[in-house]
Amino acid sequence: MSVPQKGDVSASERKLLQIIAAGDVQEAAELLASEDYGMTPLMHAAYKGTADLCCLLLQHGADVNCNQHEFGYTALMFAALSGQHDCVTVINNFFSRARLEYYTRPQGLETEPKLPPRLAGPLHKIIMTTNLNPVKMVLLVKEHPMMIDAVALEKCYQVMDLLCEQCVKQQDMNEVLAMKMHYISCVLQKCLASLHKRDDKLDDLIKMLLKGRDSDGFPQYQEKFIRDCIRKFPYCEATLLQQLVRSIAPVEIGNEPTAFSVLTQALTGQMAFVDADYCATCGERGADKKCSLCKLAKYCSLTCQKLHWFTHKKMCRPVHVHSAELQADAPQLKELKEDESDLEMETANFLQALCLRAEEKIAAAGGCPAEQLDLDCPSTSAETNMLPRLRHDN
Ligand SMILES: [Zn+2]
Ligand SMILES: [Zn+2]
Repeated sequence: MSVPQKGDVSASERKLLQIIAAGDVQEAAELLASEDYGMTPLMHAAYKGTADLCCLLLQHGADVNCNQHEFGYTALMFAALSGQHDCVTVINNFFSRARLEYYTRPQGLETEPKLPPRLAGPLHKIIMTTNLNPVKMVLLVKEHPMMIDAVALEKCYQVMDLLCEQCVKQQDMNEVLAMKMHYISCVLQKCLASLHKRDDKLDDLIKMLLKGRDSDGFPQYQEKFIRDCIRKFPYCEATLLQQLVRSIAPVEIGNEPTAFSVLTQALTGQMAFVDADYCATCGERGADKKCSLCKLAKYCSLTCQKLHWFTHKKMCRPVHVHSAELQADAPQLKELKEDESDLEMETANFLQALCLRAEEKIAAAGGCPAEQLDLDCPSTSAETNMLPRLRHDN
């Protein structure tokens, strides 16, 4: 499908459009590195739904707001019109590195810049994320040791506050971006407060954000934190703020929609928890592994499963034990023998189930309960003791 466009298309531009049509990111990158392109390729990429290409074109200076199209359409409209949600997200959340790097140079009478140049890269990465899960953001901070520092965090959140103000006060006010900048500032301030409390590289903060309440495992600290961030948005006349508060305020903590899903939808245009599998820890999409015990919790990685286990283990119930209760042990093993194909995996799961129940029963559980029950516990290292194996989610 081709999009009508204004004026002639140059031969080189036609070539780029062909590459975009073929969806070849690498070849497009090479071409873009050598030539200067404007909005039309972005529109095409948006229309075709190639989020990687949208991102690439934006990084190479494609103008998001350019609407020289004969009907005045922008790339965002093309993406929205053709239902390309990933492209809408990329375009909505684009923030040029140059705009951030402005703060890495002393302005006016300043003797030093507001943002040390070495922090621009890590901070830009956080700004560009479309996953607003606070755990993910703290993990992004942790990725860069230089960010786990009181002075660095303070400078970063102050720049985020300035950018928030700029987004509100600029001529074409961008409430969405302003809210995102404010939210990131809040997360960074939370990191700073946590660092002041204890020198543990933000591990305690991650635990707090993940900890589920006893009744149903709902992470209420995280919910309250996100609600607080939204309420603290400094420009109370903003329409977006009022919409968010109206959506969240009547919802009892623990019910749907969560503050996270409301915020995600407002800032990225994505409906959270609709079509994709989300990591229970960091909220990344496409989590393709699940807890082998309950087969409910999904994770993107073993690291995320480990981070979640301290709280998930209270909710995690092996599917067999859960449905059949305790006396079903022996029949279960017999049944398993009838199904030779899955025997090995099911046995491993069953042993893990025993590990877990033993943990609940044995009050002084030092070390793996399997050892005390003289079972061959599938987990090996001390750290993964009792951690259910991750299995691919087919
Ligand atoms: Zn994850
Ligand atoms: Zn589980």
